[in-house]
Amino acid sequence: LERTFSIIKPDATRRNLTGAINAKFEEAGLRIVAQKRIQMTKEQAGVFYGVHKSRPFYDELCEFMSSAPVVVQVLEGENAISKNREIMGATNPADAAPGTIRAEFAESVGENSVHGSDAPETAAVEIAYFFSGLELV
Ligand code: ATP
Ligand code: MG
Repeated sequence: LERTFSIIKPDATRRNLTGAINAKFEEAGLRIVAQKRIQMTKEQAGVFYGVHKSRPFYDELCEFMSSAPVVVQVLEGENAISKNREIMGATNPADAAPGTIRAEFAESVGENSVHGSDAPETAAVEIAYFFSGLELV
C-alpha cells in the first residue's frame, strides 16, 4: 500500500469541513493513518512550498497557509497518491470535476481546501517534514 501526505487547508478548517473532507477520503478507500491539527508560521509554510518560491502567488500562499490551523495527515491506500489527487480535483475549483473535494468545497484557486503530494518522492519529504517516525504506524 502507498502513502501520501495531505493538508486540510485554512479555508476548510475555518468552515469546520475536516469531517466532511475526511469522509471523502474514506469513501474512496483511503485510510487516515496519521493526523494532527497545527498552525504553521509563514516561514514554515514557505519552506513547505519552496518549489513555488518564484511564482507570483508564493507570498499570498504562505500568508494564507499560516493564517489559521491546518490538519496535516498521512493517507494510505492502493495508489494513494494518484487516488488522492483524483478525489481532490483540479487546482482551480472552476475546473474541478463534479463530486471532487475542490468542486464541492474550494473557494478559489488559492484557497482550495486541500493539498496532496504529487509523487512518491515529494510524499516522502512532505510526510517527514510534519511527522516523526514514532507517529507513523
Ligand atoms: P497542492 O500542491 O496544494 O496539492 P496543486 O498541486 O493542485 O495543489 P500547485 O500548482 O502545486 O497546485 O500549487 C500549489 C498551491 O498554490 C495550490 O494548491 C494553490 O493553493 C496555490 N496556487 C496555485 N496556483 C495559484 C494561482 N494562480 N493563484 C493563487 N494561488 C495559487
Ligand atoms: Mg502541488
